Amino acid sequence: MGTSHQGTSASDGLFLGPPRRLGSALAERQGTGSSEGERAALQDAIALSVTDLAVLMDRVDGEAQDILGFQVAMLEDDALAAPALSAIDSGTPAHVAWSAALDGEIAGYEASEDDYFRARAADLRDIRDRVLRNLSGGESSRSPSGAVLVGEDIAPTTFLETDWSAGGAIVLMRGSTTSHVAMLARARGIPMVVGMGKLPEHAVMIAVDGGSGTVLADPDDLQRAAFNAALASDAQARGLEEQFRLRPATRRSGARIDILINVAGVEELDHIDLSSCDGIGLMRSEFLFRDGAPLPDEETQYRAYRRFVEWAVGKPVTIRTLDIGGDKPVRGLTPDGEANPFLGLRGVRLTLAREDVFRTQLRALARAAVHGNLKVMVPMVTVPDEITRCAALFDACVAELDAQGIAAHRPPLGIMVEVPAVAVMPELFDAAAFFSIGSNDLTQYVTASSRDDARVAALNDPSHPAVTALISKVAQYGRGAGIPVSLCGDMASEPRHLATLLDAGLTSLSVAPARIARLKAAIAEL
Ligand code: PEP
Ligand code: MG
Repeated sequence: MGTSHQGTSASDGLFLGPPRRLGSALAERQGTGSSEGERAALQDAIALSVTDLAVLMDRVDGEAQDILGFQVAMLEDDALAAPALSAIDSGTPAHVAWSAALDGEIAGYEASEDDYFRARAADLRDIRDRVLRNLSGGESSRSPSGAVLVGEDIAPTTFLETDWSAGGAIVLMRGSTTSHVAMLARARGIPMVVGMGKLPEHAVMIAVDGGSGTVLADPDDLQRAAFNAALASDAQARGLEEQFRLRPATRRSGARIDILINVAGVEELDHIDLSSCDGIGLMRSEFLFRDGAPLPDEETQYRAYRRFVEWAVGKPVTIRTLDIGGDKPVRGLTPDGEANPFLGLRGVRLTLAREDVFRTQLRALARAAVHGNLKVMVPMVTVPDEITRCAALFDACVAELDAQGIAAHRPPLGIMVEVPAVAVMPELFDAAAFFSIGSNDLTQYVTASSRDDARVAALNDPSHPAVTALISKVAQYGRGAGIPVSLCGDMASEPRHLATLLDAGLTSLSVAPARIARLKAAIAEL
């Protein structure tokens, strides 16, 4: 009988296949024997790696291109190779010097308590291994199709270079649900489980249930038959749901529900048919701000926002202003050493404290607004004065752009309803053009249970009556006051919460793109 192992779900779906171990690429290599030779070898390997990445960048788009661009920028930064070059000058072979230098950097990221920082270690590991492969004239990291990639962590480029046409899955001993790869896996519908801790070394077949985070190593005939039956019924259910994908979401009564999508990167749009949704309900702009990379300037942000707006061809696109802090720190922007980051300088609190950064983003948004139906939304609002200040700053940015002769437009400004103070008294916030309920944060603040702590996961329940009562209250207030209300937390992507949300009076939901067909099918049943 195979052994069952429990990890954390990072992307749902089922897959059964042979494992492919993601190993370190430290290949056997004979040094050249001289410091000059080793210096040149390392510099050549770095240059070759930059070329590899440039070739790869031509084959991908959007988010994936940003990830590769980030790696190119790291490789082109002389500071990265400096410690390795000085070790080479003292007689260390190039591959040993490079590994040691990069391992030191990686250890720094890995030691972080935070998922987001740990996720950035994957980019560095990727860079380390690519250069090592090139130093030893090594093989490509391209993975075969139809395998379960198993390892400590996985590099974004390994994901991008993998041929997923015959399916596959990812099982990581560490990893993180907020990593670049987890985002890419969810967008592509590749099952992924992280935080496994351990898996039997010599398993020859692995069954992955990405939704529950369960992994079976070497299932026996009975277990395999059961898994295959689950796969078949899953495929059948997905097939039935697919018929709903391009139709409007309509209840049996004929009432129409708007289904919008949550996105983080432009790359995700490549896999989404615009006619399957009513627009973008949440674009999390903080994913443009990579920790450790320079802050994106106005032009970079403008180009990114414009692509979302143009993709939607007139359908609404709601871009959320920076929501960093809490579980999404960015070095140099978020404060170090906060005792309780979720209750600290996060979202609009931080952007109002860093007007320079906020102005750059608002200017980029005002410029992008010229190209389509853009709405802008502010996260973590707690008091009405925050809306007033954001609106005044936005107006000032638009006036400044006008004076400079740069085309700009002031889009409607709405707010996330995710702090209980707003959900309890929505009537204080009618300066907002719209409300979008953030059930992820609303749940953690109402139930006082962290959204990223598995030990209190049972308490962190969006169907707690106190949470659903607040959702109803906001929906009803919005209807009476003529303020549009949507919900964009993960709760909207779960069919089991659907009846509760629609009974609460919501008629607009923003969901994970991979859930569109499933939700529309569930709505048709209501
Ligand atoms: C939420 O809090 O529900 C939400 C949608 O925002 P985020 O998950 O990015 O905090
Ligand atoms: Mg939130």
